[in-house]
Amino acid sequence: MTKVVILGAGAAPGVPSLCCGWGNCNPENKKNRRIRTSTYYEFPDSQILIDTSPDLRQQLITNQINYLDAVLYTHAHADHLHGIDDLREINRINQDSLDIYGCPITMEYIQQRFDYLLAEPGRKGDCILRASLIPHQITPNETFYIKETKITPIKLLGHNMPTTGYIFNDGEIVHIADFRAIDDKGLEQIKQRPKLLIMPLTTPEEKRFHAGLETILQYIEKINPEKTILNHMASECDYDEINALTPKNVYPAYDNMIIELKE
Ligand SMILES: [Zn+2]
Ligand SMILES: [Zn+2]
Repeated sequence: MTKVVILGAGAAPGVPSLCCGWGNCNPENKKNRRIRTSTYYEFPDSQILIDTSPDLRQQLITNQINYLDAVLYTHAHADHLHGIDDLREINRINQDSLDIYGCPITMEYIQQRFDYLLAEPGRKGDCILRASLIPHQITPNETFYIKETKITPIKLLGHNMPTTGYIFNDGEIVHIADFRAIDDKGLEQIKQRPKLLIMPLTTPEEKRFHAGLETILQYIEKINPEKTILNHMASECDYDEINALTPKNVYPAYDNMIIELKE
């Protein structure tokens, strides 16, 4: 069985946000309280984290995540990256370095901002005093493996920074991050009907650098997964409202939501 945990369902400001408060969200509904985005994947043979939210410390403690095989980065915006220092605790517990993956531009930003956390490629760093992360560059549509889990990175278009989506096991699970469009070559890498699709609904309305609900529903129809979870939601997205606006196998995420996928 594969287990997926939505560690944070919010967009960059979280809900409530300092600027907009609860916005369009009903404050009475606990599912509307959202921290920033990371997603945890527990495959039968591997444990993988996508993105390190600024709220990562809290997320790892709440969900008792003490071990990871790898971290995959979608892009280098702060709401997806700036909890990177919290990976030190994973290093400490396991007394080992940790592999991190991203496209060349993402890895370049990580190198510029968090050089002190990086170990030399192929060489462990000091796991006690600071995080020890081994950087790996990935190429869109070129498959790689974390243990037995097959991963194909794909290019996402139209965000204001190069962004990568990830396909697990030829399409068993598809994880899309901040985007306006998905590269056609990337869509071709989905070789089976996905059991799960993760899609970022920042706001229902289309924005300059983010797809809106209409575009997202079009992609869901095209990819045709068994189940879709909408994450990365700002205060414009009320849980019940989004639930009412979407087909019955499409669900808004909430913090600490667990999805279990049977074989
Ligand atoms: Zn984001
Ligand atoms: Zn972003």
